[in-house]
Amino acid sequence: MEGGCACGHIRYRLTGRPLIVNACHCTWCQRETGTVHALNAVYEFDRVEHIAAEPEIIDTPSASGKGQRIARCPVCKVAIWSNYPGAGPAMRFVRVGTMDVPSQCPPDVHIFTSTKQPWVTLPPGAKVFAEFYDINEVWSDEAKERRRALRERMKK
Ligand SMILES: [Zn+2]
Repeated sequence: MEGGCACGHIRYRLTGRPLIVNACHCTWCQRETGTVHALNAVYEFDRVEHIAAEPEIIDTPSASGKGQRIARCPVCKVAIWSNYPGAGPAMRFVRVGTMDVPSQCPPDVHIFTSTKQPWVTLPPGAKVFAEFYDINEVWSDEAKERRRALRERMKK
């Protein structure tokens, strides 16, 4: 899968499927995106390859107070992925709307639905969490194994 920013200066290629796709309904994501939720496909950093220019990294305040780092196109400033303090630089949260075919990554889970806009209705059977979730209970076995392997790689 590939994607990029609005002006085409930034293009990226993704290797394989995401670990998970989070729809985040927190008020911070609502403000950053200007809409009702963020849609983030979580990847190991080395599965997100920039194939044109490199993004610029912008430190941005976050709900936790620890800040997040948002990778943006240096020209058109569209955000393409973020690092969050919990997962650190090892994981990139790719903004699904920047993919060439965003329909390939529907949300696996909806999080922080305690602040979901009241007129947003979620599909029947959707996995919904009022706040965040326990990765061990929600991620697939394959994703958990990839996460474990990534941690091993990061130690080296
Ligand atoms: Zn651009």
